[in-house]
Amino acid sequence: MPDVVVVGGGPVGLLLAGELRLAGADPLVLEAADEPARQLRGLGLRGINGRTCQALRLRGLTGPLARAQEELFDRLAADQGPAGADQVRGLLRLLVEHRAKGHFGGLPLVEDQPDPLGTADQFLIKQHQLEQILVDWVTGLGVPLRSGCRVVDVVTEETEVRALLADGSSVSAAYLVGCDGGRSTVRKQARIGFPGTPATMTGRTAVAELADPGAVTASLHGPRGLLNLSLVPGEIATIEFDGGPDERDAPMTAAEMQASIRRVSGVDVTVTRLAGGVRYSDNTRQATTYRQGRVLLAGDAAHVHSPIGGQGLNLGLQDAMNLGWKLGLVVRGLAPEALLDTYTAERHPVGERVLRNTRAQVALMRPGAQVAALREVLGEALAVPATRHHFTAMVNGTDIDYAPGSAHPLTGRFAPPLELTGATPLPDLLRDGRAVLVDLTGSAQIRDAAEGHRVRTVTARCPAHDALAALLIRPDGYVAWATADANLTGLAEAFRIHGF
Ligand SMILES: Cc1cc2nc3c(=O)[nH]c(=O)nc-3n(C[C@H](O)[C@H](O)[C@H](O)COP(=O)(O)OP(=O)(O)OC[C@H]3O[C@@H](n4cnc5c(N)ncnc54)[C@H](O)[C@@H]3O)c2cc1C
Repeated sequence: MPDVVVVGGGPVGLLLAGELRLAGADPLVLEAADEPARQLRGLGLRGINGRTCQALRLRGLTGPLARAQEELFDRLAADQGPAGADQVRGLLRLLVEHRAKGHFGGLPLVEDQPDPLGTADQFLIKQHQLEQILVDWVTGLGVPLRSGCRVVDVVTEETEVRALLADGSSVSAAYLVGCDGGRSTVRKQARIGFPGTPATMTGRTAVAELADPGAVTASLHGPRGLLNLSLVPGEIATIEFDGGPDERDAPMTAAEMQASIRRVSGVDVTVTRLAGGVRYSDNTRQATTYRQGRVLLAGDAAHVHSPIGGQGLNLGLQDAMNLGWKLGLVVRGLAPEALLDTYTAERHPVGERVLRNTRAQVALMRPGAQVAALREVLGEALAVPATRHHFTAMVNGTDIDYAPGSAHPLTGRFAPPLELTGATPLPDLLRDGRAVLVDLTGSAQIRDAAEGHRVRTVTARCPAHDALAALLIRPDGYVAWATADANLTGLAEAFRIHGF
């Protein structure tokens, strides 16, 4: 029997499974879909933001992401004419130089100088590329993945939870995590509330061909919506502010996409071929809790919102980083069960904030003279570095503080990129998912305090941070405890509550 059943082998389920494995648990991933369905779901591009990159760097996954991005951009450039290829290369340059930091409602967040914010990487890739990188990683860790397994019900018993599959079989485990996307069966079966606001817009992205692509503007933000033909060759995207999609399940047809392009552009184009498409909306909802006993939720199963601004995947991947080590330690009996409640306590407010900023971004994309004026005003404000950095931190998740008001300002924050002299670089120290106690003063007292705890203790110097004496870093890269001097108050408690 596995320790944890992860329902859904999308990006969030895969990362969670790997994190559970690193924490010493035995997860099993049950995935309903087959390979072609995955490729179709990955239409459009996915921005991997600053905080997610910092987190994935801890597991050595940013190298493969950089290679995937380069491959993708080579392909995108090759499929364009010379002007388009220059545009693609220009975007890649901004990413590689660490100057592109995403956008807010289509208003670019771009820096003049490389990386003034200390969050180096940002990637733009296809979702199936990310999923392949994660599949390779979890397979290497020995996590079993079972595809073609649709979970239809979840039954919680006193000592275990059972996933019932469509073929009539079942799998039991101590815990079950629903990473099964926005329409989560797990969430519904566990009767976890999902309040929010209904859709007001419909986005469509399709692999399609037009009889005369030159007849419409390649990138249009007009009075009836948005049209884009230029970002990914062969893909056409529209957004209409029409009250949300009437149809959610039926496969998209050429006639549907053609009608949408005609409405947005006002041009009578003809779609000659359509090889699949996806619809999305700004239906914005969040689970009332991310844990109900033995059942937990992560990723889109816990929160949905418009993809404008590119944050849903990032939010979910960071849920997985937060939950993985906690659930791994709890299921092995090494940490108190109360640690699991810190998952909702820490991640729910972060999700709430993303829901708020994506609603604001949808408002900014609407047609109309007033919104156009608002965009201009906000564009001016974003030219001011301090304002731009505030928005950049918000959409990149780099302003997250899990423990506001702590005794030390670093506690609750992601560990800063400390330049350690005499030790392995910090991200590499966390590669195997173990907590790290960094001692910057060579103190015997700190080493003694760590004796017998599940942490790697590292003694190093960090001349740039002479006001920092020691810090305890969780497996997800966040600081659990820090001190500016020899005072170790709070360290023993930090070991206890985190199960280190
Ligand atoms: C056009 C578009 C562009 C986007 N761009 C971005 C972006 O730039 N940045 C960003 O951060 N986000 C973006 N998003 C959002 C992002 O795609 C999602 O937030 C992300 O896919 C969520 O990952 P997940 O693993 O939680 O869910 P999913 O990717 O939905 O994966 C869920 C998995 O669970 C499986 N499953 C479902 N039900 C069951 C069941 N009953 N039993 C077993 N398995 C099941 C599914 O087959 C699937 O594999 C975009 C979305 C769209 C539509």
